[in-house]
Amino acid sequence: MSLKRFICFAADTLYCSFKPLRDIKSIVVNRASGTIVDLLLDVPEESEILEVVEFKGIIIPAFIDAHTHILGYAADKGLDLRGISTWEEVAEIIKTAEPTHQHWLIARGWDESKMQEGKIPDKQWLNAIRNDIPVVLIRVDGHMAICNDRAIKESGLDAYNGKDFDGNRGFVKEEALNILHKAKPVVSLEQFMKNYTDLENWFLRHGVVGSCEAGINSNLVRYIEKLNPLIKHSVLLLAEDHNAQQINLLPFTLSNGIKFSGIKMFYDGSLGSNTALLFDSYRSVKNYFGLQVKPTEYYRHWLETLKNREDIIIATHAIGDRAVHEIAELYSTVQPVGIKRIEHVQIIRDNTISLLRENNIVASIQPIHLLTDKRWIASKLNKSSLEYAYRFKTLMNNVPTILGTDFPVEEVDPFMNLYAAMFRKNPDEADAFHPQESLSIYESMDAYTAKAARYSLLEGLGTLDRGNKASFVVVDRDFIKRPEEVASAQVKKVFVDGIQRFG
Ligand SMILES: [Zn+2]
Repeated sequence: MSLKRFICFAADTLYCSFKPLRDIKSIVVNRASGTIVDLLLDVPEESEILEVVEFKGIIIPAFIDAHTHILGYAADKGLDLRGISTWEEVAEIIKTAEPTHQHWLIARGWDESKMQEGKIPDKQWLNAIRNDIPVVLIRVDGHMAICNDRAIKESGLDAYNGKDFDGNRGFVKEEALNILHKAKPVVSLEQFMKNYTDLENWFLRHGVVGSCEAGINSNLVRYIEKLNPLIKHSVLLLAEDHNAQQINLLPFTLSNGIKFSGIKMFYDGSLGSNTALLFDSYRSVKNYFGLQVKPTEYYRHWLETLKNREDIIIATHAIGDRAVHEIAELYSTVQPVGIKRIEHVQIIRDNTISLLRENNIVASIQPIHLLTDKRWIASKLNKSSLEYAYRFKTLMNNVPTILGTDFPVEEVDPFMNLYAAMFRKNPDEADAFHPQESLSIYESMDAYTAKAARYSLLEGLGTLDRGNKASFVVVDRDFIKRPEEVASAQVKKVFVDGIQRFG
């Protein structure tokens, strides 16, 4: 039997968009193109050309994660250390582990604030466990690593004397960590493809069908060309790692549909690694303000180079209030005409908010970070910084604000991310962090679908409208009406371009 030309998807409630809020009963999809051709307030009868499928629960537009590292992680993913709570256990694992990147062993995911021993061990500890091969243990945020002598020697770091490298302890941050990343052998294409497929399935089962890749190395482009992805990718190139020709071509789309839409720069590091750039000193380290990772000329150069390109994204990672302010000032001085994004914006002062608003700068935030950071943020920052941390509502009220998870720094879990955006605490905690900065379900969902797609240049996604792709998620309960249930909501089915990909 041949398939009918049209298929109608219906649910108890079908949400087309969240700002404005529009809910209907069903959509009709052209099977051949996966495009929505009609929106209906009822459920039509089956006919010779129309099949009707009804679901329990609700249908929402599929999630677009505005900041992930799925492609980068497919290449970097070594041993996964997330969830481990003692250094002793880490030692046990790496003692016998097979190398992950040819003869190198890369492991990622430790977080000292979750370790029973508290402090971070140094390279003497690591050398004693293993120094027959280069070993690199990367912190969960990707902004710091501990490495053994073998890794220091083979990467050439022993001849490097930047502030972000502590050779005695084997602590490597930011630029120094980049040197390590470039020195380590690449994974095989086969391993990359396998990692990617696993990660893509993981995204799909969470209802995420679009991703803005926040910075990849040029050596990955030849691997990315080989993929046949089900989810949609908008990829930002790490500015300094690309040749002029690649930058000149922006935006370009590969034959497999993966779109290269702009560049990514780093202005500072992270709070977890004490490298975010602050106006006021860190509380945990006296008279220390963090790092600006490149000279100011570097940012100016790229902004000038791409100044007249309308259809691209310029995204800069800035976490500390000083980093956010300085990059906003540069955006404001050079005035590039494309989409100007600041990634993370974890601390921001009032005068910087005006600067963002006047220059139409997009805030790309990851509420889910708050669930981790909340546990140590008060010991890390002085009061004057703490007051301006994680101002989601203030940002939302003033500038285009979009949501992401920064996967694999955090899990690519939309429901936990939404919970963090709305409740600003872990489900088992009593107190919210600055509850006046909570977002509503409508703001959060709009920022996670329509706006995330728009400011990631992922066309045809984010709302269930005529002419858009039928990329949607069936969820077991109506967490739009009852946001307090979001943490227990479950993805039942996921469709991409009208085709079921999960459930
Ligand atoms: Zn990131």
